Amino acid sequence: MKERLGIFGGTFDPVHNGHVQIARSFLNSGLIQKLLILLTPSPPHKYGKRQVDYFHRYNMLKLAFENIENVEVSDLEMKLSKPSFTLQTVRYLQKENPDQQFYLCLGEDSLRDFHKWHKYDELLERLCLIVAKRPGIDTSEVVPEILERTIFISHEPVSASSTTIRELNGKKKSDLPLPVAEYIKKHNLYQ
Ligand code: ATP
Repeated sequence: MKERLGIFGGTFDPVHNGHVQIARSFLNSGLIQKLLILLTPSPPHKYGKRQVDYFHRYNMLKLAFENIENVEVSDLEMKLSKPSFTLQTVRYLQKENPDQQFYLCLGEDSLRDFHKWHKYDELLERLCLIVAKRPGIDTSEVVPEILERTIFISHEPVSASSTTIRELNGKKKSDLPLPVAEYIKKHNLYQ
């Protein structure tokens, strides 16, 4: 039987407790055995917006997930060509790992906007989506074509967001894993 692996991508600018909890829920769902966390250098829908250096975002991700089993933080998208379309990453992973079955793991806001993703129909042909709730997101307009390929998992919603943390200059400590809060302070990020 193929190993089941979830792909969870994001800008993680910075990674926060919402990401950590959602990752735990993906794994606890029993649908996947491992979770691959892909740090996106500069996602197509956030082009033109300045982000904290990739190196810092990667270090923070490693710190946030260092004690969580079955999670791998990956810089694969840094090595592939840009822009970092998820489809390109999925094609690559499926070609390189024929013995694994991949699922795309998303927060509900990404599900709501999924129809805007590059060639989302090919993505749906290639893999199913695993989606966890995010507070304040209305997904009532998601079309059946997408919902038919979506598995909703139970998840205790966490209201953290990277935008809010950036707006508060990285000071919203309660939303950050402790080593990440310390890293932000030490390197003077989000000032
Ligand atoms: P930003 O505020 O900069 O848009 P973000 O907090 O949404 O950032 P991303 O790195 O864009 O973080 O998100 C990566 C993935 O994590 C997406 O699939 C998103 O839906 C999911 N996600 C982020 N925060 C939460 C949360 N609090 N609950 C559930 N899912 C979340």
